[in-house]
Amino acid sequence: MSDAPHQDPDLLDKVTNLAKRRGFIFQSADIYGGFRSTYDYGPLGANMLRNVKAAWWQVMVQQRMDVVGIDAAILGPPAVWAASGHLATFTDPLVDCRKCKERWREDKINGVCPNCGSKEFTEARAFNLMFKTQAGPVEGEGATAYLRPETAQGMFTNFANVLATSRKKPPFGIAQVGKSFRNEITPGNFVFRTREFEQMEMEFFVPPAEAEQWYRYWIDLRYNWYVNLGIDQEFLRLHEHAKADLSHYSLGTTDVEFLYPWGWDELEGIANRGDYDLTQHSNASGVRLEYFDQTENERYTPYVIEPAAGATRAMMAFLLSAYHEDEVEGETRVVLRLDWRLAPYQVAVLPLSKKPELEGVSQKVLEALAPYFACDYDVTQSIGKRYRRQDEIGTPFCITVDFDTLEDGAVTVRDRDTTEQTRVKIEDLLNDLRQRTGQK
Ligand code: ATP
Repeated sequence: MSDAPHQDPDLLDKVTNLAKRRGFIFQSADIYGGFRSTYDYGPLGANMLRNVKAAWWQVMVQQRMDVVGIDAAILGPPAVWAASGHLATFTDPLVDCRKCKERWREDKINGVCPNCGSKEFTEARAFNLMFKTQAGPVEGEGATAYLRPETAQGMFTNFANVLATSRKKPPFGIAQVGKSFRNEITPGNFVFRTREFEQMEMEFFVPPAEAEQWYRYWIDLRYNWYVNLGIDQEFLRLHEHAKADLSHYSLGTTDVEFLYPWGWDELEGIANRGDYDLTQHSNASGVRLEYFDQTENERYTPYVIEPAAGATRAMMAFLLSAYHEDEVEGETRVVLRLDWRLAPYQVAVLPLSKKPELEGVSQKVLEALAPYFACDYDVTQSIGKRYRRQDEIGTPFCITVDFDTLEDGAVTVRDRDTTEQTRVKIEDLLNDLRQRTGQK
């Protein structure tokens, strides 16, 4: 048993099992034996993933007057991906192990086959990661479409539309949350790397002279987003890429890295992309993607700062860092110490017994709280077992309705982390919970 989750070699297995057992994340097409590297989010996972995305949207869009959101199409024509450079260069180096024939991404294996230990590989070939499909009933080049491998291009192709309709001017951003698809050579580590995943990206358009300053600003803000939502700084670090390792379009890239059970790895990337994207799309489409600054009487192509995060990958990091085993009343308990904003359920209402009077009051409590908090309701098993179930799925507050409630109109509020129990009048409950969650 350990209270230092990252020193537990079984952490990944424990979280993967918990995720399946409790309905966070299932293997997709499970009843057919599963479909490799695709996952379905169950009742708890769907809630939590929505919460991760909502927490991002709140800070990145809702609370800022200089960022607007869009929701662009997933299917796109080849022209977009030719201009963005994805058709030519969105590739990973694919090698085959000469001994066991497994396929690997050359840059991830340090010259040794992770399957059989052989050091003999075929020459690396560039493997394009985009999923290609046909749009419409006709086959052939004219019908080719691609599933987007990132959400970012939707922001660039809509730059002029958003500029014209939103009345924003640089510095301003366009944000989007949605599915992306990459035909990864070696998906794995649960939902860390999958072929279908969700991204949370924002393109921040700035006057070129301000790019460096905004790049630093967004690195700082994005790092602190994770800290603010409960990831211990011990498990986070920034990794700035050396100039020699940068992609051809990047003027600077810094990753927010997380200490996964297998070591430090990327959680999010923040890049200064210069004017690469807008210039590429201007040249290819013939539409000038520029900004005309009336006060300076000058036309320019804005530079772009891009914080690009994975929603599904972030959810996994939040689960890993929230997983703890501690001791309560001489028993080991598993507890997910999730921030209340991310927890699948924020409140569980638990009538002490199935007596109709208690269930009746419990329904009233639910009706009062459910518009403001995600609530679970559980009447099965002993109250101790029910507390453990809620601890294990990260519910911050359990509300127990007992026989005294019928006399004094008060319920017991139990705190997940301290296990402390407090009596609170039902009419004060909403305010009490708002206070506990810092909303008042
Ligand atoms: P890598 O080099 O590890 O393949 P990348 O640097 O190409 O990843 P980006 O293109 O910067 O990744 O994507 C931005 C973010 O999207 C990543 O930081 C990650 O959180 C998420 N992401 C990218 N690919 C995947 C994937 N296959 N599965 C889950 N999340 C992903």
